[in-house]
Amino acid sequence: MSSRDKFNIMKIGLLIIATNKYDVFIPPLLKSVKKHFMKNHEVTTFVFTDKEMPNKKGLVSLPHIHEPWPNVTLKRYHVFDKHKKELSEMDYLYYCDVDMLFVSDVGDEILPDKNSTAYVPNEYKGCYFAGGFNGGTSKAFLNMSREIKDRVNKDLENNIIAIWHDESQLNRYLIDNQPKVLSPSYCYPESWDLPFEKKILALDKNHKEIRG
Ligand code: UDP
Repeated sequence: MSSRDKFNIMKIGLLIIATNKYDVFIPPLLKSVKKHFMKNHEVTTFVFTDKEMPNKKGLVSLPHIHEPWPNVTLKRYHVFDKHKKELSEMDYLYYCDVDMLFVSDVGDEILPDKNSTAYVPNEYKGCYFAGGFNGGTSKAFLNMSREIKDRVNKDLENNIIAIWHDESQLNRYLIDNQPKVLSPSYCYPESWDLPFEKKILALDKNHKEIRG
């Protein structure tokens, strides 16, 4: 499933560099950020500057020595890398030149799409595998287990759970590692009527009650 909880409040870091005479651009930019940038999220603006900054909520001022053109701009990523520990506490980071203004709302539409590691495009026409019974050589099975574990963890770090959980992950994995395909006989829903011999039944149950 490709999904971001729209109501999830994210920590957004906005990075601004303003040294030398460029500090004049800071106040109007900050005002416009407050009015228009990621209004549904928690925005922290990091200002790298050689000037004094007022103490304000959502504003972090980081001392930054001016370097003559073009180093001031060329080495901007050096600066961000230097502060990676603090910046990595944000969920998202955006950089903005200081001589800019937000004049209309800028929000979730700019966030990268967070696809699950189990993502399969709609156009995919292959089999869908039931997760209820599967296996193979112990080597292949354990390789798969490790890979799916890593993918589930990665998704969880990104606040994502694939729509059919482990089964979505299993399907993504088997698209890339084509297995021997068993018929529905081996995971036959108890009360269904399928044109297959019943070999292993998936028993009917009241999900809500039994999951409690
Ligand atoms: N900058 C700065 N001090 C300077 C020159 C540049 O802080 O003396 C920073 C500032 O963030 C600016 C960015 O470098 O927005 C890029 O410089 P500039 O806007 O002059 O480049 P342009 O986008 O016009 O090519």
